[in-house]
Amino acid sequence: MTIMPQWLKKRAAMTPDREAVVLSDDTRYTFKELNEHAGQYAYQLKQQGINEGDHVAVLSKNSYEMFVMIHALQKIGAVMFLLNTRLSVNEFLFQLKDGEVTHLLFQEGFRSVVDELTVEVNLHSVSFEQFSFEGKVDEGIAEFDLDHITTVLYTSGTTGLPKGVQLTYGNHWWNANGSVLNLGLNADDRWLLCVPLFHVSGLSILFRSVIYGIPAHLHERFDVESVHEDIMNHGVTTMSAVSVMLEELVERLGNESYPESFRCMLLGGGPASKSLLESSKEKSIPVFQTYGMTETASQFCTLDEENALRKLGSAGKPLFPGQLKIMNDAEECQVGEVGEILMKGPSVTKGYWNRPDANKETIHDGWLKTGDLGYLDEEGFLYVVDRRKDLIISGGENVYPAEIESVLKSHPSVKDAGVVGKEHERWGQVPVAFVVIRDEETFSAEALKDHCENNLAKYKVPKEFHEIDELPRNASRKLMRNRLVN
Ligand code: ATP
Ligand code: MG
Repeated sequence: MTIMPQWLKKRAAMTPDREAVVLSDDTRYTFKELNEHAGQYAYQLKQQGINEGDHVAVLSKNSYEMFVMIHALQKIGAVMFLLNTRLSVNEFLFQLKDGEVTHLLFQEGFRSVVDELTVEVNLHSVSFEQFSFEGKVDEGIAEFDLDHITTVLYTSGTTGLPKGVQLTYGNHWWNANGSVLNLGLNADDRWLLCVPLFHVSGLSILFRSVIYGIPAHLHERFDVESVHEDIMNHGVTTMSAVSVMLEELVERLGNESYPESFRCMLLGGGPASKSLLESSKEKSIPVFQTYGMTETASQFCTLDEENALRKLGSAGKPLFPGQLKIMNDAEECQVGEVGEILMKGPSVTKGYWNRPDANKETIHDGWLKTGDLGYLDEEGFLYVVDRRKDLIISGGENVYPAEIESVLKSHPSVKDAGVVGKEHERWGQVPVAFVVIRDEETFSAEALKDHCENNLAKYKVPKEFHEIDELPRNASRKLMRNRLVN
């Protein structure tokens, strides 16, 4: 058992006047103000009958109210279920029932959805509008036990039914520490937060902000113009992004360059194409590729700055507190050999909520089987190749959709691409491509095929190319390959 003082209260006592949150309209709050607001919410939560240990869902887009609510729920020691706002009613119902949630806090804009939900499931719902930044303050629990669960976040559901990942205070604490031991900390650091707070990528920035004592520049969503503006003119030093965001930012940057003080673009959540990494490099954007998942409280491996260019395409090494190995069944893989990535460390979940089957299958002796395939090079750098479930086996050869997608996306006419396996009499499976075309006028299917033939072994060249308007992506903007059907 490891006990720490409550984070926000401690931070407000240590550095009350430092900025904690900066909003897009330039409203700013200090840690003292944030702590007072969270204390007011905590008091009001208790008045709503919400107490320590309760399962409380939150349904909100990024907003200051949501930011405060998360801190307030920690103050009272409730277990938070942060819901992905883009889910369908049935998906919400699955998570609320699965999570045995008794209370739902929601942003007013979601009222009609909540009305639908409360017909189906018995819970006490309260709109954010019923809370206010005034009145009495409840300072909340004095101490956090690092072994206690504070959040349950459902995985993105990219490969199947989402699973509720239980994360303890300790998991988040070690994640924040692992990151800062790698990236360092400057007094003027400011972290741009435009990824969802309901996802571990956004939530981890909230925790880093309070643990490090630096402001989060909170955006309601990713809007290329306001993010660009924030980096160029408001002293942002660090940002977490996924590929599609970086692609838009690179385009927006044009011939300009980011200020020198902008020192880290943490890129994660999915594979990054080589062409994106190269164009970022040309524009001197300090991209740090990361690899992580909900189960590891976000970033687990990161490619540090010293090696960023030398190891382009690698996700780096595990952060200081973590270990990693690559396994092929019971055997550890050789250098360069592809196998399943396993991870162990204090930021790794102790298990999924209510899923003894998945826990038994996934976690052994503290080692988490990620379901991802990768290999280590001779210096121990990790290369993530793809998800095990998406592996295509064609004529006995392993084909990784992500590699083909990366080649497709390096073609100037292709805006986006997804590849899946299709049953084939002779080869078992063959890759087929779904592409979103940038400009119909200049596009030539022949030229795209040639481009693939020039850059890929024959068995990896897609046997079919389908043009579609948009690829199916989930709320984390991840490609859902299982929805690609022809
Ligand atoms: P589900 O587990 O429900 O299928 P999910 O795995 O997409 O959903 P997340 O926890 O949000 O849910 O995402 C983690 C996954 O994202 C990793 O397991 C991996 O497949 C992918 N990923 C993250 N970083 C990288 C990276 N650098 N390169 C390739 N893939 C990555
Ligand atoms: Mg997963």
